[in-house]
Amino acid sequence: MSNHALLLLAVACTLALGPAAAAQARDRSRAALGPHLRVRPVDAADVRWTDGFWAEKFALCRDVMLPGIREALGDPGNAAILDNFRVAAKLKGGKHQGTDWSDGDCYKWLEAVAHVYQATRDEKLARLMDEWIAVIAKAQDADGYLSTNIQLTHRPRLANPHHHELYNMGHLLTAACVHHRATGKDSFLSVARKLGDFLYRTFQPRPPELAHFGWNPSNIMGLVDLYRATGDRKYLELAGIFVSMRGSAPGGSDLTQDHVPLRQETMAVGHCVCATYLYSGAADVYAETGEEALRAALERIWGDMMARRMYLTGAIGSFRQGKSPRGDSVHEAFGGDYELPPRTAYNETCSNLGNAMWSRRMFAITGEARYADLVERVLHNSALSAVSVDGTGYFYCNPLAWGGEKQGPSMHHTARRWSIHRCFCCPPQVARTIARLRGWAYGVSADGLWVHLYGGGTVATTLPDGPAVGLTQQTDYPWDGRVRLTVDKAPAAPLAIRLRIPAWADGATIRVNGRRSRATAGPGTYAVLTRTWAAGDAVELDLPMPARLVEAHPDAADLRGKVAVMRGPVVYCLESPDLPEGTAFGDVAIPASIELVPHFQKDLLGGVTVLRGKAARRSPDSPGLPAPSKAGWEGRLYRDLRPSRRGAPPGESIDVTLVPYFAWANRGVSQMAVWLPRR
Ligand SMILES: [Zn+2]
Repeated sequence: MSNHALLLLAVACTLALGPAAAAQARDRSRAALGPHLRVRPVDAADVRWTDGFWAEKFALCRDVMLPGIREALGDPGNAAILDNFRVAAKLKGGKHQGTDWSDGDCYKWLEAVAHVYQATRDEKLARLMDEWIAVIAKAQDADGYLSTNIQLTHRPRLANPHHHELYNMGHLLTAACVHHRATGKDSFLSVARKLGDFLYRTFQPRPPELAHFGWNPSNIMGLVDLYRATGDRKYLELAGIFVSMRGSAPGGSDLTQDHVPLRQETMAVGHCVCATYLYSGAADVYAETGEEALRAALERIWGDMMARRMYLTGAIGSFRQGKSPRGDSVHEAFGGDYELPPRTAYNETCSNLGNAMWSRRMFAITGEARYADLVERVLHNSALSAVSVDGTGYFYCNPLAWGGEKQGPSMHHTARRWSIHRCFCCPPQVARTIARLRGWAYGVSADGLWVHLYGGGTVATTLPDGPAVGLTQQTDYPWDGRVRLTVDKAPAAPLAIRLRIPAWADGATIRVNGRRSRATAGPGTYAVLTRTWAAGDAVELDLPMPARLVEAHPDAADLRGKVAVMRGPVVYCLESPDLPEGTAFGDVAIPASIELVPHFQKDLLGGVTVLRGKAARRSPDSPGLPAPSKAGWEGRLYRDLRPSRRGAPPGESIDVTLVPYFAWANRGVSQMAVWLPRR
């Protein structure tokens, strides 16, 4: 056979094998997935959003966000630049441009493209990925090293954690594994293996000079991904080494969770992206090793964050610069106990999403609804606030109040979302999350299917021991708490369908084929519906969604005397464009007796449910509230204002409209507040 004929045959085989190879790659990854997971995530390939809230966000990501980010990655004024790979591959001349972490942000975009390709099979996306993967492969050094910021500037390798080499490399590993699962191709995965081998040779001996080498450690998650994709245990071993390195040698700092060994840590501390990436990676290691000390530490740290250090929106990062509770200099970090200033909150998009990534892993390990509730809290609030409703602009910081100024307390506190920025880590972080979110919606365990997220769509998957199961979900969630699930496929044996009942959902009810189910549907649990299901069986879940007033722990000084409003999982805010004429922003107070009525407005802010009601006019002689009592908080940071504590009707009233927090700042520079004075 001629060379040409051989080449044609090879091309034909590749084309024919594409979907089959992708399925094999998925099966391998699925089989390798964490023996110590209580609930396994359903592969994103098995899930579709068809209509409603998340389907619309996915379409926005596919049609607007990804092309927009691609454009930014080609703009010389942007902090992340794809062309660095072309220069490192010697395909063109030039210097390194952008930040040290530019490569990692480019990989996050590629990862998002792979997630979208998996859902759409759009060949244009396949070609786009092939094109850049070929360039990235050419940019890789012979020994596997790849970080263009170092290669193109001739600075020494691994000399300074802030050069972000491990961040860049970790995102390459994850993007390559996602690409492999989506396409079945090995092109990117072989780059990842060479890089993983380089890291193993470098770090496995644990050289003392690299004891404190960790910054935004996406490499831990990436190495576990690589282990799952290849089955090669050395990558898992190395991920474990990176976890154990933290706090293992004197001289470490809380900034990078390096003051105390992770297994002994009691606090969520330090730089919030570093923290959530480390905790997520450690949870991945636990899923494979089942080491109890690691799990116990992660549960402690998560509990500490929830009780003392997290914003109502699921955001984290109380300040730009300061001291940790142990006195280390830290920045972009968790605050001290109850330190939650709304206006100066740093709340970087990447750390908020890191919190969701970590909590999602904690759920998979434990099967406890509180973790899945937090994932949803982040998604509907501090994740979506990062992107404009038209998908073209992004926030880096996500404060909970804004005074109408053009610029806030740091260069990343902006009044408007931007498309090009001096630090571009956040946009592809949002994009890859929305692109892959369908893979977060369901889980499986030996006895059944778990429904974590509500949104119109379908799932068709298999349980760990083989039987096929399929569901169709119809809902207008998060604007309406009614969810209808129709069974498409089920085994001829009893199967549990578990529905998440969010902690806010008091009085949830479930009907099966029109009859009220006796299954308990307590807030903050999964309701378990076990029966032999048949195709066409219908489950109707009703999660009551009254608007709720929420108060914060009395020790949160910045939130004292204030209330926030939530409905379902959505946090609301007051924004200046909604104030009646002649009313100043500071005039509005919320009486505890306020009635807030939901209205869906299709043409507002991309289609949102607003809340309307009569607020009180605040005056200088408004009576102060009684001193708050610390009784009855039981380790909680936020709680609903109990009806018995609802106060007297107000004097003069102001008509107010509250909008979802995530949709603020889409109508020009504005004033905004989540926490409003209480009357
Ligand atoms: Zn970021």
